[in-house]
Amino acid sequence: MLPHHLGEVAAEAANRFGDREALVFEDRSFSFRDIGALVEGAASGLARIGVRQGDIVTLYACNCWEWIVSYYAIARVGAVINPVNTMLTSSELQYVMRDCGARVIITSPDKLGQVAPLIGKVEAVIAFHGDLPDGVLDFGAMLDHADSSLPMPTVSADSLSTICYTSGTTGHPKGAMQSHRAVLLNGAMTAQMQMRSATDVMLSALPCPHVYANVVMQAMMLQGAKLVLHRRFDARAVLHDVQCHRATVLDGVPTMYMYMLDEPSIDECDLSSLTRLYVGGQTMPAATMAQVEKRFDAPIIELWGMTEIAGLGTTHPLWGQNLHGSVGCALPYCQLRVADPAAPEVALSEGEVGELQIKGPMTMMGYYGDDARTAETLLAGGWLRTGDLARIDAFGRAFVVDRLKDMILTGGFNIYPAEIERVLAEHPAISMAAVGRQADPVKGEIAKAYIVLRQGYQIEAHEIETFCRERLAAYKCPRLIQFVDELPRTSNGKVMRRELHKLDKVQ
Ligand code: ATP
Ligand code: MG
Repeated sequence: MLPHHLGEVAAEAANRFGDREALVFEDRSFSFRDIGALVEGAASGLARIGVRQGDIVTLYACNCWEWIVSYYAIARVGAVINPVNTMLTSSELQYVMRDCGARVIITSPDKLGQVAPLIGKVEAVIAFHGDLPDGVLDFGAMLDHADSSLPMPTVSADSLSTICYTSGTTGHPKGAMQSHRAVLLNGAMTAQMQMRSATDVMLSALPCPHVYANVVMQAMMLQGAKLVLHRRFDARAVLHDVQCHRATVLDGVPTMYMYMLDEPSIDECDLSSLTRLYVGGQTMPAATMAQVEKRFDAPIIELWGMTEIAGLGTTHPLWGQNLHGSVGCALPYCQLRVADPAAPEVALSEGEVGELQIKGPMTMMGYYGDDARTAETLLAGGWLRTGDLARIDAFGRAFVVDRLKDMILTGGFNIYPAEIERVLAEHPAISMAAVGRQADPVKGEIAKAYIVLRQGYQIEAHEIETFCRERLAAYKCPRLIQFVDELPRTSNGKVMRRELHKLDKVQ
């Protein structure tokens, strides 16, 4: 049985899994009972300072155990969780808090600089520990006084649980309103398809505010799987901890795996405990997936998800075929279809490429404070437009082509940057590549490839052109090639194609 709302999760996990180890963060380890007690303490502290059911509490902090405790404590008092990506600047943070009407913020000491302008302006600023300036409450002190009479709020499964902002890969982040049912069901169904269970040790360096990290955290609390959480992604540290904790499941975005492949210490690490690796958030070229499987000696399984559906939409069930190139089939209770973006109410046939749409109990309630965008995205009948181009095969498996917004229109032809990036990834000298668009007086737009070479490799642009011409139709080949040291990324490691043009000036 699924808990009714997120506020019940910590106590339920403490009852069910008791003294089993739940969470490892740096040199600390917590059982499910520990987490349950910490959540009660934090919730009592929030109640004492006046946080009430329905209030919105911003959680703006780096990955740490306190983040997880805060998340469930906010829900425990019936308040709405507003997890905010720590890459957001101080003014963006203030915008988000004003936008959603949050009056309390919980933060980590490293973020106090960004939070400082809010001190005295919002009802409460709470920080995890450290030397706290005047006006900042100490989270650690709040934990000590759990109130055993703190009532469990009555919260409907369909009410607002979270205002979660999108990654901002294509523009300004949007605040997706998620119900308790959406978040819990997504966590539970993801865990079911991926068979995350109490026998698993999951290792994740995904940023906690992101929905992919959220389903990993829910697998810990709902299924009793152990989570080794990293403060930030560091290829060497992740590989080291796989060995140290005998991790069975690794989660990441494609970039993380690419960095791990290039990490010299990979050869010294014992990775034999890994039974499966998950990847999502962005297209991972098949060539890179093959390299990862060879190097880690474990299957890499793709998943596709988005903030607007509170986590995953598709993945390959562990008992099914893991077909590379496909992101898998829909989570239970969800349906997929593709439609012409110009006529989104009409479904296309099997195998045709169109905009992917998804329907089910995980779809968002809407974008906070943006009715116009909500109306564009949520269609009558419950279908949600994803903005992704895909096709679906006879077995219901989806194949993501690219984002609709990133399609390049060149001389009347459509080109998909992801298709070019997949080809570039096959080149042995190329570590990472991204393709963006550039205005062109003749063709309207042309594709430009930005390339990061592997260490120790030297190669000329014309060799890459020849490589592409041998593998792609002429009109798809990138017209311009530029070597760069790094690609612009979001906090969760996604390449921001819209920022690629900024590299033009540097070189
Ligand atoms: P924004 O909406 O603010 O531009 P975002 O779409 O990156 O940012 P998220 O909700 O974090 O924000 O990401 C969802 C998107 O990530 C999907 O719509 C899709 O474009 C992309 N994505 C996720 N998983 C995959 C995958 N396995 N393959 C390709 N793309 C993926
Ligand atoms: Mg999006």
